[in-house]
Amino acid sequence: METELFIGGKWVPASSARRFDVLDPATGDVLASVADGGEADAIAAVDAAAAAGPGWASTPPRVRGEVLRKAFELMTERAAELARLISLENGKALVDAKGEVTYAAEFFRWFAEEAVRIDGNVATAPSGANRILVTRQPVGVCVLVTPWNFPAAMATRKIGPALAAGCTVVLKPASDTPLTALAMAAILTEAGVPEGVVNVLPSRSSGKVVSAMLRDARVRKVSFTGSTEVGRILLAQAAENVVNTSMELGGNAPFVVFADADLDAAIEGAMIAKMRNGGEACTAANRFFVEAGVADEFSRRLAQRMSALVVGPGTDEKTQVGPLVNEDTVAKVDALVQGALAAGASAVTGGTRPDGPGFYYPPTVLTGVAPDAAILREEIFGPVAPIVTFTGDDEAVRLANDTEFGLVAYVYTKDLARGLRVSEAIEAGMVGLNRGLVSDPAAPFGGVKQSGIGREGGHEGLLEYLESKYIAVNW
Ligand code: NAP
Repeated sequence: METELFIGGKWVPASSARRFDVLDPATGDVLASVADGGEADAIAAVDAAAAAGPGWASTPPRVRGEVLRKAFELMTERAAELARLISLENGKALVDAKGEVTYAAEFFRWFAEEAVRIDGNVATAPSGANRILVTRQPVGVCVLVTPWNFPAAMATRKIGPALAAGCTVVLKPASDTPLTALAMAAILTEAGVPEGVVNVLPSRSSGKVVSAMLRDARVRKVSFTGSTEVGRILLAQAAENVVNTSMELGGNAPFVVFADADLDAAIEGAMIAKMRNGGEACTAANRFFVEAGVADEFSRRLAQRMSALVVGPGTDEKTQVGPLVNEDTVAKVDALVQGALAAGASAVTGGTRPDGPGFYYPPTVLTGVAPDAAILREEIFGPVAPIVTFTGDDEAVRLANDTEFGLVAYVYTKDLARGLRVSEAIEAGMVGLNRGLVSDPAAPFGGVKQSGIGREGGHEGLLEYLESKYIAVNW
């Protein structure tokens, strides 16, 4: 497959000729070497995107939609090979990788349909003096920065609405997982995306190349998915040129189980909310709050299910939990677990890093976790479920909101009124009520507090790439 930069519709080496290695998380061995884009390449990518902008913006919405629809079809046809590629570079189990390809392709289908739903409105000014005509125009050149945990879906969730809106883009993928992004560029080209409309810039100097692009006045938007820490840096840089921002940042999802919940459903939901992607998801349940009467049974049953999972190389069909993406991630997960254990928690299952090659961590359930443990404040990003008990709605809401994050929460109860009351009281952009999975291309995905600004997916996702233009008219 292609391993060069993709700029202006061509595969080109980095101007410095530098390359970097992509590792296989199952072994730590080198999987591929990829061109390492630098600042000059970043500006060349912005040149290409800026040159392609007017042509793409004036391409009929139906045609833009049909290109995206074709990209959906190509991704669907090639789902097996794309899933294998994701699994190879990210480590996730094939079953998760296949799920990601379906989810990722659906963003192209959804935004193919949204491309023809760009509307405006007309109103009469309150004074009666004129009409207020509002139209929508593409924002312009967009810089898209994506993480390694969903290398296909985080890219399509941005490219889909940007292209539907008539914007052109430079995608800077995570350096752990650039291969999937390059495969997406090839698919989009085959689907008919004109040269320069989508550019892909793998780089090991992400900070420098993204800064260089944000300093370029032709760039009008940055859409970022990644950690809150890097999000803060990009918000500050975007302020310089007053660049439009969308920020999908970290999470610290509470998973609240009331004593009246259907425990079978809660366990199923917990397995999805915790273990999809081996726990490497911003939506991953990070803190389990279980009401006192059912906490022992919930912990025992969750530990049983977690310990039965098959851990192994992601590309092995039998594997249910692959390795984590890299050594730093394993070290961070292990430090959080050891910190919780040292402060008095017990590991009902897991809790010990295995010897041998690869970046593996065992599915782990912790009980008796101290309320001030770091594992309850930080994103774990691994297969670890810390459990804390509570009593009553007020305590559940207080514990759930005791975090600077607010991406998603999960609530299990058979009492619908309680479920809705608690869902409203929890400070989060999304709630799974008796459901362990919220992600859906048709729904607005995003967080409040330090989990981000803006929404991706749904109709809101398209609006992020459009500016409203108001024309005062007399007629
Ligand atoms: P990250 O370290 O913030 O990196 C995300 C992206 O930013 C990567 O492409 C990275 O490039 C790049 N980057 C790093 N430093 C940068 C800088 N100074 N300037 C510009 N770009 C920079 O996050 P990650 O570890 O890849 O991903 C995990 C995080 O993403 C978690 O916090 C997770 O919650 C969050 N996430 C959020 C959502 C959501 O929708 N809210 C979805 C998925 C993930 P390099 O790879 O080269 O460092």
